[in-house]
Amino acid sequence: MTAEQIRTAQWRAASLLAFILHLLKRMPRLIARVLLFAACLASASAAVEWKVIKIGNRDFLSVDNVARFYGFPAPVYDGKTVRLVNDKNDLRLMIDSREALLNGVRNWLSFPVIVHEGKVLVSRIDLAKTLEPQLRPNMIQNLGHVRTVVLDPGHGGFDKGAISPYGYEKDYALDVARQLRPMLQAKGFRVIMTRETDVFVPLEVRAHIANETSDSLFVSIHFNATDRDPAATGFEIYSLTPRGAPSTYEDGLTLASVNLQNGTAKDSASIELSTCIYHSLVGQIGEFDRGIKRARFAVLRLTKIPAVLVEGGFLTERGESRLIASSDWRKHLAEAICSGIENFRTLAETKKRPMILADYRRQKRELAAHANEPSPAPLLTLDMSRAETPMLPAPEELNVTPTPTPSPVGSAPVEP
Ligand SMILES: [Zn+2]
Repeated sequence: MTAEQIRTAQWRAASLLAFILHLLKRMPRLIARVLLFAACLASASAAVEWKVIKIGNRDFLSVDNVARFYGFPAPVYDGKTVRLVNDKNDLRLMIDSREALLNGVRNWLSFPVIVHEGKVLVSRIDLAKTLEPQLRPNMIQNLGHVRTVVLDPGHGGFDKGAISPYGYEKDYALDVARQLRPMLQAKGFRVIMTRETDVFVPLEVRAHIANETSDSLFVSIHFNATDRDPAATGFEIYSLTPRGAPSTYEDGLTLASVNLQNGTAKDSASIELSTCIYHSLVGQIGEFDRGIKRARFAVLRLTKIPAVLVEGGFLTERGESRLIASSDWRKHLAEAICSGIENFRTLAETKKRPMILADYRRQKRELAAHANEPSPAPLLTLDMSRAETPMLPAPEELNVTPTPTPSPVGSAPVEP
């Protein structure tokens, strides 16, 4: 063997050793990949079948079936509620009620959850239209890009909307939209407003303005009022009622429930936009959680893009009407709507799960701790110059004792 041959042999041995070491180093990752692939195959072969249960002419699914499909452990049933919890979602259904808690916020189902022949059943419409988009937001089809936000300040001109001792709904709604516009623009959104001044704009025209845009979504801004309960407070948000279902404040099906309606193709996007904005509102501001609701308001029915209507508190309640009269508080409201819209865009473009109530509360606590604030009080600077006494209850208190009754809509546009 010449010196040249020895050097070649040594070089080959070293190369082989390096290759073996490289393989050994990569082994855990390789093994993990093989195991993951095997797990995917196993789960695909064990795909859960839906077993539809027909009662009358309505389709239901058992909660056990729902649990298996979404990978929840066995449902916990205590006679009044059923709870499904895993690391992604927390769903609580109330028996004989349309009320549900999903990831910490109230949702109003189209039909009550019932017990039938020993099984807890949820309607197929509710599963498909309300629960599924929120349980698996990353699976919503055709969310597309979001480049434009159409802001729709409710009322205007002779139509003052609801009235408080401090002012009109039309002015508050316009101010929130005006404060929200530059916030959205700073995040790279194009913003179109259905009105920029105190003028009356018919509902059909508002929808038309929205429908002229593409890669867009529609957010209508209102404040609430009721003559039934002067103590009523809190936030609520609406998206279009699914076809074949009653709206939140209807007790049963009406002709409108089954008529053809626009917006249907955007149902999942709209309920998810509701969810994104609502979790941000309740999580960042903490007014009472009245819930994610459904209605066939003209601006929701006539728009062909994802559309929601925000009710930012009650002008008929003393404490809340004073909050709404504060420009700083309305700025906070605009910021919370902005975060919700941004979360929706992130979901649409990257499939990343939007923040939920618990995330916003954690963020709030961290910010409070960072600012050396002893309590997780709302992060707002209130202009209480018009207030007689500070009477804002702690957000946590407000959420402990819910009054789960679907409320009348108050000043929002009426359904035909
Ligand atoms: Zn209104």
